[in-house]
Amino acid sequence: MPGTTLFISDLHLEPGQAEVSGQFLAFMAEEARDADALYILGDLFEMWIGDDDPTPFYAEIKSAIRGLVDSGVPVYLMHGNRDFLLGEQFCQDTGATLLEEPTVIDLYGYRILLMHGDLLCSDDVDYQKFRVMVRNPAWQRMMRMMPFKFREVAAKKLRQQTRAATARKPSEIMDVNHQTVLTTMREYDVDLLLHGHTHRPAIHEFPLEDGVIGTRVVLGDWFDQGSVVRWDPEGLALVEMRR
Ligand code: MN
Repeated sequence: MPGTTLFISDLHLEPGQAEVSGQFLAFMAEEARDADALYILGDLFEMWIGDDDPTPFYAEIKSAIRGLVDSGVPVYLMHGNRDFLLGEQFCQDTGATLLEEPTVIDLYGYRILLMHGDLLCSDDVDYQKFRVMVRNPAWQRMMRMMPFKFREVAAKKLRQQTRAATARKPSEIMDVNHQTVLTTMREYDVDLLLHGHTHRPAIHEFPLEDGVIGTRVVLGDWFDQGSVVRWDPEGLALVEMRR
């Protein structure tokens, strides 16, 4: 609908997952065409080892984003914990705009803090250390200089390690820390926060300060269905789109 802004995250697209990518391509060709803008709040891809990845699957996804941008709908992109190497070339190819994290947007009179969400999971100390390393510009420059094959092997290894580590962690550790949520919202002076990452779609309301109620909207992932937030001048809806 015109007058609606769409938010998605955690699609975790990868070659060989025809159902989820099919749902994404349909979403881009249909509902997204009528939107004021589309925000992708991280983990569009299951992994991203560089904008020079020649896999035809990625070309197809890129051209779907390009098609939407060319139709007049701006697309904004935030890094996730899996596709943090998305870079300038990707933006040039697709016409998407990369957002800093966090970003505050002004939407129909609402001020909304946008994040991927992994920064809020501050109880996961090992992950936060890893994040500092891989978000370091010097580390990223070094990675981009490595041959494609090397990055491919390194990413596969990393993915196996992450899976093993995730399986060992208690599930509370992988959710957001409420105190970190409060601190972050106060720091950016917002009462609305929208993020993904935890794959726990919900709308949480809680006391923020001085009788102000804070709202934290969590997008779900696209593994079994598609999660989208539709925001218009009346407010927001968090919707699970069935396949
Ligand atoms: Mn994530």
